[in-house]
Amino acid sequence: MRKKFIAGNWKMFTNAAGAEKLAAEVVKGFGPETRITIAVCPPFPYLERVAVVLRGSQVELGAQNLYPEKEGAFTGEVSPAMLLDVGCRHVILGHSERRHKLGETDAFINRKVHAALSAGLHVILCVGETLAEREANQTEKVLDTQLTNGLSGVSAEALSRLVLAYEPVWAIGTGRNATPEQAQEAHAFLRRRVGDRCGPKAAQNLLIQYGGSVKPDNARSLLTQPDVDGALVGGASLQAGSFLDIARAVL
Ligand code: PEP
Repeated sequence: MRKKFIAGNWKMFTNAAGAEKLAAEVVKGFGPETRITIAVCPPFPYLERVAVVLRGSQVELGAQNLYPEKEGAFTGEVSPAMLLDVGCRHVILGHSERRHKLGETDAFINRKVHAALSAGLHVILCVGETLAEREANQTEKVLDTQLTNGLSGVSAEALSRLVLAYEPVWAIGTGRNATPEQAQEAHAFLRRRVGDRCGPKAAQNLLIQYGGSVKPDNARSLLTQPDVDGALVGGASLQAGSFLDIARAVL
């Protein structure tokens, strides 16, 4: 039985006071709930403040990116060890905004995956097709390429610290979510491909989140699909009420 995992990606939003307030509201609303895993991923400058607010709660901390080196002359970058140092458990890698707005390649993302896993972080690896790719019937090909390249060299054992997030680019921040059937189809495909690569046990245990305009009113229909194991939530995670309503939809 896979435990559902709801993570909030705050992107480049909030400020210091707002981040603390939002984290405190999530902690209060979530309480001692242990049936699902919940995490928030604030911007780098607020990670430490939010870590203090989350301390002693069930809500876990994640970052939105890292640089795949231990340390060095990489001005402006943040290492896996730094994230662990401020209390992060998770890191989001391969988000479509980084792929498409910042030009990150599968090869670079793969380096980040290795750096995160070998440092001891848990990875949320995002994959997803653009609208043009979907309309050209390329969805499976794109997912397969991103998956194969993103996970290149990652062992079946290390996969236990990795979550996939299927995030169709056309659904992110657009208000247009994938239908439950579209999500299920993509998730089942990803699970099958992980099975081909790493064996049935790894595939069976792998969590696959859906991301792309998840809101309280569509969460239940998406999250009750058999291969949808949670959600990566952007916009709706910036209000504790909507984020918690999404989490409650799976209880
Ligand atoms: C995201 O940022 O990963 C995301 C899915 O955003 P939104 O929920 O706003 O579509």
